[in-house]
Amino acid sequence: MKSRIAILAFLISLTLGLTRAADARPNILFVFTDDHAPHAIGAYSDWLKNVNPTPNIDQLAQEGMLFENSFCSNSICGPSRAVILSGKHSHKNGFMNNGNSFDWNQQIFPKILQKAGYQTAIYGKSHLKGRPQGFDDWAVLPGQGLYYNPDLIFPDGRRRIDGYCTDIVTDLAVDWLKEGRAKDRPFMLMVQHKAPHRNWMPALRHLDLYDDITIPEPETLFDRYEDNAPPARYQELEVDRHMDLNYDLFVDLTPEFNQPPSQKRQDRSAWSNMKRMSPDQLGAWRAAYAPKDEAFHAANPSGKDLVRWKFQRYAKNYLRCIKGVDESIGRLRTTLQELGLAENTVVIYSSDQGFYVGDHGWYDKRWMYEESLKMPFIIKWPGVTAEGSRSRALIQNLDYAETFLEMAGAPIPSDMQGKSLVPLLQGRTPANWRRSIYYHYYEYPSVHMVPRHYGIRTERYKLIHFYQFGEEWELYDLKTDPDELTNLYGRTPFSDLTFDLKNQLVALQQHYEDDSDVREMPDEWQRRMRNQP
Ligand code: CA
Repeated sequence: MKSRIAILAFLISLTLGLTRAADARPNILFVFTDDHAPHAIGAYSDWLKNVNPTPNIDQLAQEGMLFENSFCSNSICGPSRAVILSGKHSHKNGFMNNGNSFDWNQQIFPKILQKAGYQTAIYGKSHLKGRPQGFDDWAVLPGQGLYYNPDLIFPDGRRRIDGYCTDIVTDLAVDWLKEGRAKDRPFMLMVQHKAPHRNWMPALRHLDLYDDITIPEPETLFDRYEDNAPPARYQELEVDRHMDLNYDLFVDLTPEFNQPPSQKRQDRSAWSNMKRMSPDQLGAWRAAYAPKDEAFHAANPSGKDLVRWKFQRYAKNYLRCIKGVDESIGRLRTTLQELGLAENTVVIYSSDQGFYVGDHGWYDKRWMYEESLKMPFIIKWPGVTAEGSRSRALIQNLDYAETFLEMAGAPIPSDMQGKSLVPLLQGRTPANWRRSIYYHYYEYPSVHMVPRHYGIRTERYKLIHFYQFGEEWELYDLKTDPDELTNLYGRTPFSDLTFDLKNQLVALQQHYEDDSDVREMPDEWQRRMRNQP
C-alpha cells in the first residue's frame, strides 16, 4: 500500500513537473495594425519628433529589439496576413490580392501551436474572409470593418458592439487575458487593429489632438516621378489628384449627414461611415471638425497650398488613429503586468505593410518603394532580446510563422519559406542569413492602379520589374538615393550591377518557386493604361 502511494505521489509530482515545464514556454502577444508605416513611429524616425504619436510603442523598442530592415513580401492588407499565417509567399498560400478568399484549410502556424498545447485567439481585423481556423477563441471584423460601433463576427454569430473599434478590440483581448483563457497553458494572442487604415476616423478623445502642430511635410510631397518608369505616373494615389476632400478627409460631411452630399460613390461611402455614429458621437465629431472646415473654406487654398492643406488634414487624422493604437499597446502591456504575465510573454508590434504619408505625393501602399515595402517589427522577449537593441538583418513577414513556432518549441514544417528570427533575437546573426528579399505585388487592375511588379532588395540596392505593359525596370542605390528619385536602370556604369541583381532575382524566383508573373490583361485595361497620361 505504502509503495502504491509512493508511486502515485511520484506520478503526481511528475505530472505537475511536466505542467510546470509546459508553463515555462513563453506566451506570445502579437499586436498587429493596418497600414502603420515605420516612419510614423518615433523609435524608427525623427520625422515626427515634434508630434510624439507613439510613446508606448517607443517604450517597447527601448525595452526590446527593433528591426530596421523589416519588409513585407506583397504590400497589401489581406495578402500580408496570409503570408504571416502560412509562412509562405502569396503564390504559394493562394491569397495574392484582396479579391481572393483565403483557404483556411491549409497549414497555418496557429493550428500547429494548438497541437503543441498553446491556446490561441484572434481579435480584430482578419481581412481573409471565411471562418477563422486555428483559434480557440476569436472575433473578427467583417471585411474592412467600421471605426464606430462596428459589427464583429463571433463563433456564435455576428453582432454590433458600440464604441470605437480600436478600444473594442483591446477590450476583447483584455477580457480574454483576464477571464477567457485557461490559465494552465501558454497562449498566442493576436490583436489586429483596423486602425490606421483609410478612411481615417480617430477616437472622439483624439479629434483635436495635434490641432496646434504643423506636421513636417515629406521632402518628396511634390514628386513628379520624372525619373521613374512609367507606372509611377499612371497611378491613382496622389494626395493632389486623387485624395477626395469628402471621402478621405470628411470635409463638410458634418452639417448634412442625413443625406449624401452628392451621388458620387465616394461621397456615399463616407456618409455611411458617419451614419453609423450615434447622435452623441456625431455631435462630438461635428464640434471638432466644423471649425476646421470653416477655416479651410475661409482660406480657400488652391494649387500647392491645397495639397499642403490636404496633407495636414490627412496626416493628422492618420496620426490620431495611430494614437489610439499606441494607447492600446499601453493597456495590453499594463494588463500583462497586472496578471503577472509580463515576464513570460513575448510582445510584438508590427503592421501589415508600410504606407505613404504624403511621401512621393501619395497615400496608400502597394509599391515596392521603401515607404510601403517596410513594416515595423519591434519585439520584447524577456530574458532573450537585449534592451534597446537594433538589428539590421533583412527580415520579412514570411519569417513570423517559423519564429513563433520555434519560440514555442513546436515543429517547423519544411515547406514554410521563411527563416526563424530566434537566432537574431538571441543577438547572433547566422553567417548564412539572407542577403536579399523577394517581393511580388499582384492587385491590378484595381483601386489606385498600381501595376503588378516583382523585385529584389539587398541591403544597398533595389531592382524592380513592371511586367504587364512591356518591360519596365527600375534600379536604385539606397545608400546614395534613399528617396529613390534617380532610376539607374539602363545607365552604362551600372550594367554589371544590373546583370548581377537580375541573376539574383531569378535565383530567388527559383528558390521560392514563383512563376506567377501572369502578363495577360483584359483588353479594357490595356486600353485604359494606354489612355493614361
Ligand atoms: Ca494594410
